[in-house]
Amino acid sequence: MKKEKNVAIILAGGKGKRMHTKVPKQYLKLGEYPVLYYTIKAFEESFIDDIILVVGKEEIAYCQKEIVEKYNFHKIKKIVVGGKERYHSVYEGLKMVERDTKNVYIHDGARPFIDQDVLNRVKKQMEQVEACVVGMPVKDTIKVVNQESVVEKTPDRSLLWQIQTPQVFSYKLIIKAYERLMISDQKGITDDAMVVETLTDTPIKLVKGSYKNIKITTPEDLKVGQVFAENL
Ligand code: C5P
Repeated sequence: MKKEKNVAIILAGGKGKRMHTKVPKQYLKLGEYPVLYYTIKAFEESFIDDIILVVGKEEIAYCQKEIVEKYNFHKIKKIVVGGKERYHSVYEGLKMVERDTKNVYIHDGARPFIDQDVLNRVKKQMEQVEACVVGMPVKDTIKVVNQESVVEKTPDRSLLWQIQTPQVFSYKLIIKAYERLMISDQKGITDDAMVVETLTDTPIKLVKGSYKNIKITTPEDLKVGQVFAENL
């Protein structure tokens, strides 16, 4: 019998405007290696069968030569060009996933400290459900404000989680949700769970991630990332 595959889509197609550097954040160096190296390495060393890497138009050759070939990553089966927003990039990646794939792990290339414990926890959860996302309880109090930055309410902190990636779905569910999204006029999509939440009835289970699984977004994150990288 053919093995049912687990496929990862690693997103590295963003411009990283909040970092204020010429080079997108996923290619900046943490110690000796680029951010994206750590991210791919974690998936390469996991149970994942194939990786689809989504990059910017100008970065295909760089990624192929300076990341995939240089570090001998064998699981990367395709490198594709992303789109304008994150969800466009996800869709470009999803179009490349083989139809008989079991589960799709969608992960931000800018989250280099994803570890095997988190990946294994998610894999185990996916034996029971069709959709799950990784997250951690928020540490700060969160306020909802109006357009004038005036506080409107304070949600109960014990019910608030900050959401990370990977976000994992059965192939059948995520392709259906994204195909619906592409013909809808929905705006402001910031993660994949949102697509499944708003366009399907499938419940999404939350799985404990890690406070180390940060997204390298601003210069401060890069400093924290240097410390994590030194202590891997
Ligand atoms: O912009 P944000 O921090 O949400 O990006 C999360 C991840 O999605 C990053 O790894 C980024 O490279 C990727 N991304 C993408 N295509 C876009 C925007 C973001 O692949 N158009």
